[in-house]
Amino acid sequence: MRAEKLRPGVSPKLTDFYRLDYRIGAVFSEVTEERVQVIPAGTWNVLRARLVLDFEERGPLAMFEIGFTLGSSFANEMMQHISDPVVLVRRLTDMAAAAGWGILSVVGDLQYGSQLTATAANCVFCENQEMSTSPQCDFLVGTIKGIADRVYGAPHEVWEERCAAMGDSACQTIAEESPEELMSPDSTASRSLVNARLRVAVAKS
Ligand SMILES: [Zn+2]
Repeated sequence: MRAEKLRPGVSPKLTDFYRLDYRIGAVFSEVTEERVQVIPAGTWNVLRARLVLDFEERGPLAMFEIGFTLGSSFANEMMQHISDPVVLVRRLTDMAAAAGWGILSVVGDLQYGSQLTATAANCVFCENQEMSTSPQCDFLVGTIKGIADRVYGAPHEVWEERCAAMGDSACQTIAEESPEELMSPDSTASRSLVNARLRVAVAKS
């Protein structure tokens, strides 16, 4: 795992994280050895706008679901290599930076995941987005839920408390372990986002 060679004060390179096999047109993660792909950042803005246009309030939920699936499968892969959740989350934030998502930092109960705050500075998901009255990084929030649920083995309620698209200095997502979700048979990842949106709406009114 080459990314383990990261040292404080030494600026990491893309090749610490990814390996291109140009002959077969494939890029591999140095951490998980899984194949990855590069997607233009602007695609997410276009996709989100398109989904909102076609599906209205269900559009952001679709972005959330895509993020949720990515986060949970990615956490799955990572857990085959790293078992300590504190180390795992730290490694994930390194990888988020290397993937161009922004500078992620996670504070809170990293050991058991009861309450976590993930801050994304220079977040790629709402870059170049028009100012908005609602948080815009549904894909990121879904990813964080996917990771938190998988790594800590329990459902989390997640919501984007602050978003750069709302004029905040960074995007901030809260994840709280939510036992009620276990009890409810019809609970889905998107339910969590709906709750999150209600909360933000209440907080802002
Ligand atoms: Zn945001």
